[in-house]
Amino acid sequence: MEYKYVIIGGGIAGITAAETIRELDSSGTIAVFTKEAHLLYSRVLLPSFLKGVIRKDQLFLRTFGDFEKSQITIFLKRNVIDIDIKQKKITFQDNESLFHKKNTVFYEKLLIASGGEVEEWPVAGNDKKGIFCLQTIGDAEAIAKYLPQAKKAIVAGGSFIALEFLEIFSLRRIPISLICKSAGFFSNSFDSIGGEIMDSNFRRHGIEPRYKEEVREVLGGNWVSGTRTNRPAEYQGNIIGVGIGLNKNLDFFKERGFLTGEEGIRTNEYLETENKGVFAAGDIAEFYDVIFEKHRAVGNWTNAFLQGEIAGFNMAGRKTVFRNVPSYSITNLGFQITALGEIEAGEGVETISRANPPFHKYERFFIKDGVMKGAFMINMFFDKPIISRWIENKVSVEKIKGNFADISFNLAEVVVE
Ligand SMILES: Cc1cc2nc3c(=O)[nH]c(=O)nc-3n(C[C@H](O)[C@H](O)[C@H](O)COP(=O)(O)OP(=O)(O)OC[C@H]3O[C@@H](n4cnc5c(N)ncnc54)[C@H](O)[C@@H]3O)c2cc1C
Repeated sequence: MEYKYVIIGGGIAGITAAETIRELDSSGTIAVFTKEAHLLYSRVLLPSFLKGVIRKDQLFLRTFGDFEKSQITIFLKRNVIDIDIKQKKITFQDNESLFHKKNTVFYEKLLIASGGEVEEWPVAGNDKKGIFCLQTIGDAEAIAKYLPQAKKAIVAGGSFIALEFLEIFSLRRIPISLICKSAGFFSNSFDSIGGEIMDSNFRRHGIEPRYKEEVREVLGGNWVSGTRTNRPAEYQGNIIGVGIGLNKNLDFFKERGFLTGEEGIRTNEYLETENKGVFAAGDIAEFYDVIFEKHRAVGNWTNAFLQGEIAGFNMAGRKTVFRNVPSYSITNLGFQITALGEIEAGEGVETISRANPPFHKYERFFIKDGVMKGAFMINMFFDKPIISRWIENKVSVEKIKGNFADISFNLAEVVVE
């Protein structure tokens, strides 16, 4: 079998690429392979499903009819197990068929949009029942089934997914212990004022944060009853939400001749890999970012959508540079939290923060060589479009940064360009 365009991944990046290609190439054959059993659904909305805000059917973003109309062939439950770049061929295991038959498909152009899977939690007793991660619809269904029995929860991790777990448990008034390896929540990005604003909000919601602690062992029989940490301390809980990083299976790609960086498959600014005609997009891509002038990977929905679109353009022959200031926004435990651009304090990065703790407002700016690179904000969402524009246009903030520590300083009134 041969398709002009083959896409590995049925997430937002892969499906957007397929549909974009179809807009530009009305007759080229397109096949999408996904190992999941579902058509495209919103991972972003999984927490809303668990909070009872939406039903399961509202998670889905496409129907079989949509793919029929756009003449995109979608193969569910197909796990791609090999890629031969020289022969332009992929091999997949058909998990629908008896004995999981292997099959091959040839391509002219290939897109890798395979995202990542939750890393294994390297803790003794991690096979007990009652431990959950939250990445797929299957995870969400398993959590939903178990939640009514949950009496006390433990959340392990300091990520946005950990925040989602906190809210899901908190809404059900389940007491929570939060166990976090780092010195504070988002401690790479927040200073002590930001950390304290987060912590006092946690405490208001009955969450007791434990920092610089790491789960070493899950306690219980078949079912979870608690955890023991490195301190050592024990915390009780019959449900554990784990919010740790993604494993992108980079060794698999490296062994097949892909250039990979620390966080993904390397591409240029057109999202094309070193191998001509082979592209990568979404969470898996470590792309050349023309705004930040370096390779980086970004893990968020809008980035995956936009990269899918740009990869689709380039695969269909419309050469287009990928350009976007990434942002990740969530509303959580009554806070609106936004991470914008590059938000890691480090060598050569100047940070300035401003806060109004009684009103739960906080903003930290990240500046390099006089140019705004990023901002992390709590309840300051209105600044997002302004800062985003400054980052994209590499605007010098040298002359105005002296005002940044003042919470009443209105960025909207500043003329910098
Ligand atoms: C619970 C949750 C909440 C989130 N909330 C937000 C939010 O509020 N805001 C935000 O911006 N982002 C959020 N994100 C992140 C966002 O959902 C991801 O960045 C985005 O979905 C990445 O899309 P993708 O298409 O690159 O990868 P994915 O969505 O991971 O899709 C990858 C696809 O590849 C397939 N695949 C992988 N390997 C193979 C293989 N070998 N063979 C066949 N198929 C394969 C998978 O089955 C899947 O279909 C959230 C994520 C989660 C899990």
